[in-house]
Amino acid sequence: MKERINLTSLDARIPALRAETPGTAHVMHFNHAGSSLSPQPVLDAVFDHLTLEATIGGYEAAALANDRLEGVYASIAHLLNASPDEIALVENATRGWDMAVYAIPFAPGDRILTSKSEYASNLVAMIQIAERHDVTIDVIPNDEHGQISLDALATALRQPVTAVFVTHIPTNDGLVQPIEEIGALIREHRPECWYVIDACQSAGQIPLDVERIQCDILSATSRKYLRGPRGVGFVYIRRSRIDTMEPPLLDLHAADLTSPASYVMRSDARRFENWESYVAGRLGLGAAVGYALEIGLGAIQERVQRQASQLRGRLQEDAGATVHDVGEVQSGLVTFSLPGVDAAAIVQSLAEKRINVSLSNIYRTFLDPAQDAIGTFVRASVHYIATGEEIDSLIAALPRSGRIG
Ligand SMILES: *Cc1c(COP(=O)(O)O)cnc(C)c1O
Repeated sequence: MKERINLTSLDARIPALRAETPGTAHVMHFNHAGSSLSPQPVLDAVFDHLTLEATIGGYEAAALANDRLEGVYASIAHLLNASPDEIALVENATRGWDMAVYAIPFAPGDRILTSKSEYASNLVAMIQIAERHDVTIDVIPNDEHGQISLDALATALRQPVTAVFVTHIPTNDGLVQPIEEIGALIREHRPECWYVIDACQSAGQIPLDVERIQCDILSATSRKYLRGPRGVGFVYIRRSRIDTMEPPLLDLHAADLTSPASYVMRSDARRFENWESYVAGRLGLGAAVGYALEIGLGAIQERVQRQASQLRGRLQEDAGATVHDVGEVQSGLVTFSLPGVDAAAIVQSLAEKRINVSLSNIYRTFLDPAQDAIGTFVRASVHYIATGEEIDSLIAALPRSGRIG
């Protein structure tokens, strides 16, 4: 880890960090995995640019912001230990993942590996790709901790594999997949295999280093743990892969016409972008990445895990809840249920007390039969700004199981 972890200093900074997050005055937010509360520097970056657009014109404002827009690529590259030409800015994580994955040159007979907790949108795309190119998808079983079995993966990698897809922190089972160990296995057995990471819930929550992960593609969104605005996301593509990839969609930003009947694609990751974009949102994302880097991802991860583990303990001990999280390392996404109480009713009753949690829905995953009942679970996602008092309030506000329903 590059940055120095100074735990005391992050704990001591929480009141100040909360004070510059306007939303903390209005709600107790346990929905950072849905969409976080942005801090003031992020809001300023967005509002200032919208004001500039309204004042001098959208294209004129973008021209003035050009250096700062380039800086957004540099900040994201820094966050991932990548280089700016390996970053594409897109509308959201899914579109980034899609643009890159649909550009992998699959051929009939190819084999894809994935885990049981792959994000549903990724699975939809994978199925479409499998049908289109006559490719098979093998789902690697879980180990006794409920995360991908490295032994089963190593066995699967003995046969040819074209691509491995892993969601780093799944939407609804608490775990953190061991993506560096997975990357090491892939590179040992199948150096040419495409390794694709969905880092949508981990960007801003956990340090990410594409050299240590050894991935080719990594996608993430702005609005979740990075605390940026909605409507923007990014994808990293390894330099050595870009030339071999044909984006599923191209426009005059991604490619240049060289004659009435020919074009040449950009040589950097921006061949996966499109021309029109939410400029204020991109600047807000840049501010959010800078904000996270200044706090330090190691310190953020440590505090998120500490707050989440406090919440898991209180849910079990003081609220009689069942916590459904698995994995050797657990994330800030806490999934639970109260025996005999409808999850939607819990979400609703907390909302009335201005406590934001969300419902974990079955449609997000299908690969794990153990999660058949997931539609009945509540997800409380914790970020570093969550305090012990907020956790107390959440516990106190829960309907007592057995008392209701
Ligand atoms: C939210 C989420 C996504 C989708 O992100 P968007 O920005 O909404 O496209 C992808 N993967 C995981 C694991 C998620 O939780």
